[in-house]
Amino acid sequence: MTNSLQKRLYQERELKQIFAQANIYGSTYLDDIVERSVCPTETSIKNLKAFDEQFPEQGENAEQVLEQLDKFGSPATSAIQGGRYYGFVNGSSLPVSLAARILGDYWDQNAALHVISPVASKLETVCETWLNDLLGLPDNVVAGYVTGTSVAILCGLAAGRYRLLLNQGWDVNKQGLYGAPKLRLIASRQAHGTVLKAISLLGLGLDSIEWVDTDDQGRILVDQVPELDDRCLLLMQAGNVCSGCFEDFDALIPKARDVGAWVHVDGAFGLWAAGCGTLKHLTAGMEAAHSFSVDGHKTLNLPYDNGIVLCADSEALTNALHNSGSYVVLSEERDGMFYVPEMSRRARAIELWAALKYLGRAGVDALVLGLHEKAKAIAKGLKQLGFSIVNDVVFNQVLVQCETDQLTDNVMTLVQQSGECWLGGADWMGRRVMRVSVCSWMTTDDDVARTVKAFSKANDAARSSK
Ligand SMILES: *Cc1c(COP(=O)(O)O)cnc(C)c1O
Repeated sequence: MTNSLQKRLYQERELKQIFAQANIYGSTYLDDIVERSVCPTETSIKNLKAFDEQFPEQGENAEQVLEQLDKFGSPATSAIQGGRYYGFVNGSSLPVSLAARILGDYWDQNAALHVISPVASKLETVCETWLNDLLGLPDNVVAGYVTGTSVAILCGLAAGRYRLLLNQGWDVNKQGLYGAPKLRLIASRQAHGTVLKAISLLGLGLDSIEWVDTDDQGRILVDQVPELDDRCLLLMQAGNVCSGCFEDFDALIPKARDVGAWVHVDGAFGLWAAGCGTLKHLTAGMEAAHSFSVDGHKTLNLPYDNGIVLCADSEALTNALHNSGSYVVLSEERDGMFYVPEMSRRARAIELWAALKYLGRAGVDALVLGLHEKAKAIAKGLKQLGFSIVNDVVFNQVLVQCETDQLTDNVMTLVQQSGECWLGGADWMGRRVMRVSVCSWMTTDDDVARTVKAFSKANDAARSSK
């Protein structure tokens, strides 16, 4: 016996027409965004009011649902999948990882337990080994596959909190934080906002941070770091979100380890430098840290929702995230839920595995180096136009400045409005800057030239309207 809803559902699944329809919309979208305005037009944003409808009494048919999504949704997207979106630190997606995600979505796997999804368990295990190999991390480092770096940081710091307190004879899972020995947090003034969020969420308190000044690139000043001890969580970064700079891991991590402190490296986009022959010097010494956070959806160009926590103290990570105290995962097969905060979870290692298998070591090397080279080319072009480049372009980030903050912001607005490329601004060392983040495999020499030209036009316009 099937009811009428079931009939509709079965019919759609058998006809498969809506899957073909989605595929056509998707591939047309990829074609169109290459020349379309990089940011959505005002009209397309206004047209989003098409979604302001009463909750329907009777549902619509599936074709119409998809049609509305494409007609009003697609134009109101930013062209992150293209080659001239330089905002924040966002990546495109490799065709193979996009295709693997689509296949994985048909599977609809829950990666919580091996028994639910042997394939998810297998791919997570393989990716863990491959990541350690690629990034030069010790074999004992374990991986948890989470939504993004925000959650990866939370997991890494939770593991550190668990371990440091246990070393003080305090089981935080059982005893909580009330009355616990006080931990010290050592962070630079350039620590990412998501690090601060994790500190708040974990109840460690922003007031516990001992702030350390940075140099003009945003690196921790090593000689300003206070005396470390076994109650310290030292927060370092591989890739500052503005300048792209890397910290001096060799100078600090061995010292921290000697006294029993915990080191977390936030490498949301920069950790991938370790997989690039030309750039891996930037991460020298980082492999000795206790925990790491990284995004597949940035430099590696996976689709969104692909963060990874890496941790050299498997027991601390699994105990921190799994509330059964001293529980150790003894299973031969991997049960993914022990390495992440969630139980049910998308099997996101599918697209990570696909990208790593497709690229191999040589491909990751070429991808990361390509981003760096395009960033350098943009910096060079903009410098020739008279802009100041205020950071050393060691990775994929370029910070651009005019003589006055007003002019910097005006040029940025005009570049954004041109639709040729999109980038955002930030405060940097007390001044305004434009942030160019090259994070898409799609950026070509032609995109670089078009970007420089867009800046040139915006610059002329900003100066003549003064
Ligand atoms: C992007 C980023 C984060 C946050 O990562 P999400 O994936 O957005 O959660 C944290 N730190 C740095 C350095 C980043 O670039």
